[in-house]
Amino acid sequence: MTTTPPEALTRDPAAPQIAQSLAEIHSLGAGLFSRALVMVAGDLSFDEAHSYRTPVAGARSGGTTRYSMTDADDAGRGYEGRVDRAQARMSKQDSEVAVLQEAWDWIEALHASFPHGAGIRVVLIGNIGPCTGCKARLELFRQDLISVFGPGQVIVESVYDTSEMFITKNYSQKYEDYETGTTNTVSTTYGYEGATVEAVLPPGAHQSVSYWLYRVM
Ligand SMILES: [Zn+2]
Repeated sequence: MTTTPPEALTRDPAAPQIAQSLAEIHSLGAGLFSRALVMVAGDLSFDEAHSYRTPVAGARSGGTTRYSMTDADDAGRGYEGRVDRAQARMSKQDSEVAVLQEAWDWIEALHASFPHGAGIRVVLIGNIGPCTGCKARLELFRQDLISVFGPGQVIVESVYDTSEMFITKNYSQKYEDYETGTTNTVSTTYGYEGATVEAVLPPGAHQSVSYWLYRVM
């Protein structure tokens, strides 16, 4: 058991909510899960008018949505210039695809009611960091938010709690391109080199919870 000295605890007011979401995700057991916390003007009520906690999504919950990067009809929103085709297609049903869509739908429906000039912060929380494809999706999502809220008004972060800062895996056989009949070996990296450790003492807890946090650029 380790204890975190008080001076090392994060000052992030959303940290208890982040820790709570990580605990909820862990309670689901094995598998890859994610959820987003969407906060307008720093609101932490999660009352669905000023801030929003998306449902927890599991793997294969994504699909042909705004953040799939594989929908041929999505002009300018494809994988081109972001990641290679195999990477995008392999990950198009990842939980992050569904969660980013859910967050976007809430923002799009309500943004006219947000206080004028308000900033927005979105924290995508998962038990494993985003893969290479989903990192590109987070960048695309951030650009979408900047187009609505303006530059300097948007923070998008990734939070996860694997023991390693980032993990690189090679997948062969997993991705077969049915159009060309070829099987690719795809190397993907989960999590971010350059993430920082954040520690929080949740209310009533005796032991701190720590996780990786990376601000998407
Ligand atoms: Zn992914």
